[in-house]
Amino acid sequence: TFISFEGGEGAGKSTQIRRLAERLKADGADVVLTREPGGSPGAEQIRDLILNGDVDRWSPVTETLLMYAARRDHIERVIRPALDRGAIVLCDRFADSTRAYQGAGGEAPISLIKALEEQVLGGTTPDLTLIFDIPAEVGLKRALARGGEARFEAKGLAFHQRLGEAFLEIARREPQRCVVIEADDAIDAVWADVWDAVSTRLGL
Ligand code: C5P
Repeated sequence: TFISFEGGEGAGKSTQIRRLAERLKADGADVVLTREPGGSPGAEQIRDLILNGDVDRWSPVTETLLMYAARRDHIERVIRPALDRGAIVLCDRFADSTRAYQGAGGEAPISLIKALEEQVLGGTTPDLTLIFDIPAEVGLKRALARGGEARFEAKGLAFHQRLGEAFLEIARREPQRCVVIEADDAIDAVWADVWDAVSTRLGL
């Protein structure tokens, strides 16, 4: 089973995905917790190129191709082997982040992104995607408080609003795959919603 966590900055995905991994492991499941961009040694090197290169060094199309190069390596070396042996894969960000960040937020053509999804994912797509929704001001404030990256601080509120809308649009289009998690709440309350969505889907 392949589960991805998506959403804008400061939505609390990483805290919740760790909690979910611990909970499922405690039940005896084979769990692989991973993240994008990155998740395999090669993809982590590409992550470093993308995030720690000069801000705005890459054009939107170049950045999209780097994301997909990283994603392909991550799929080949980590995600696919894990799914093939029956593990539960929990991935902090996946293809929907490219649609939102490079597509809606940046200016990469959606036709390119769709072509990459078709040709590069090779059918490895999430069974369940939790979309963390948070008002852009709240998410931005949380992310800045933890020491946000220069790369996204530079982008401002309008960018983050566009991002949030893009994620919600994905959820509306694919209601069978996506569950929207209201993330502007206490950690335990958000966790209850996460567990509800996952345990329902996994039949636990
Ligand atoms: O998951 P997290 O929020 O820590 O992501 C790290 C950074 O990667 C984000 O701040 C975001 O700016 C960037 N990112 C991106 N495009 C993606 C995925 C992540 O720009 N497709």
